[in-house]
Amino acid sequence: MKKPRPAPSPALRESLERLYRDFDYAARVDRDAIRFPMRYPDPRDREVVALLTAALAYGRVDLFGRALDGVLAQMQQPWAFVRDFDPRRDGARFRDFVYRFNRPRDIAAFCVAARDVLARHGTLEKCFVAGDPEPDGAIGPALDRFARAFLEADLRDVFPDGRLSRGYRHLFPLPSAGGPCKRLHLFLRWMVRREPPDFGLWTSLSPARLLIPVDTHVENMSRAIGLTRRRSRNWRMAEEVTARLAAIDPGDPVKYDFALCHKRMSGDCLDRRDPIVCAPCGLRLVCRHWRGARLRGAASAPRPRGAASPPRPGG
Ligand code: SF4
Repeated sequence: MKKPRPAPSPALRESLERLYRDFDYAARVDRDAIRFPMRYPDPRDREVVALLTAALAYGRVDLFGRALDGVLAQMQQPWAFVRDFDPRRDGARFRDFVYRFNRPRDIAAFCVAARDVLARHGTLEKCFVAGDPEPDGAIGPALDRFARAFLEADLRDVFPDGRLSRGYRHLFPLPSAGGPCKRLHLFLRWMVRREPPDFGLWTSLSPARLLIPVDTHVENMSRAIGLTRRRSRNWRMAEEVTARLAAIDPGDPVKYDFALCHKRMSGDCLDRRDPIVCAPCGLRLVCRHWRGARLRGAASAPRPRGAASPPRPGG
């Protein structure tokens, strides 16, 4: 039987709630990958663009964003473009696309797979739900089936020898492989969470089931404030951090993700003790980088009047 987790300290709860409440989301949205799907008011476009954006969201936003902008400019109306996509006719539109592991044929394969998924299910949400027989269960198996819908699509028009490119496989990591699957969790956060900056388009899933998208920034912050001690960034770390956050807000544990990630990404946290950068930080009370300073501060704090003196050695 699993040992019950200790309840979060009031200081951790209060610090995180304050961070979530006071964070300036508007100031950071333009530097976040969410800005790409946010441009599209039609939910059908938004869903397709969100999945493509999240799939490419490895590395810096400004770098993959440049490549993604070129793809979106070709699509114009992404949902209709994908619905009518013909790799022989339209594939060449992506000939200038290159981003790290990915090449034009990976984007063409994405369009073919998304076209067939949408033709079969109508929306990406319905595709997800079709592979989610336990609406209160863990998200992993359903997310695995969702990723497989793209990996097991008939892509012979793009990959005639039947072998997927490494770049295409990279777009859809499988939860069953044990990695953190940050990009898939990010996509779900955008789709499922009901509060800004997220879209809340997928109403058939509860935000309580989401796992936090752990990237290097969230990993650093999570260690700093004691949400995990794991060394490897993997699925179990995502589960562990989320479980700690769920002890604070079981209905919406990943609501802290955006603020935690951007605090570190923006340089408002250097992941080390810095008297200037840390001075305004509301997490200082729970930050491991200040633990020694807190203890020293407590030891040297003036005693209240009337308090007994500490015993002297040998006294
Ligand atoms: S106290 Fe400093 S190191 Fe700790 S979380 Fe805040 S900014 Fe980061």
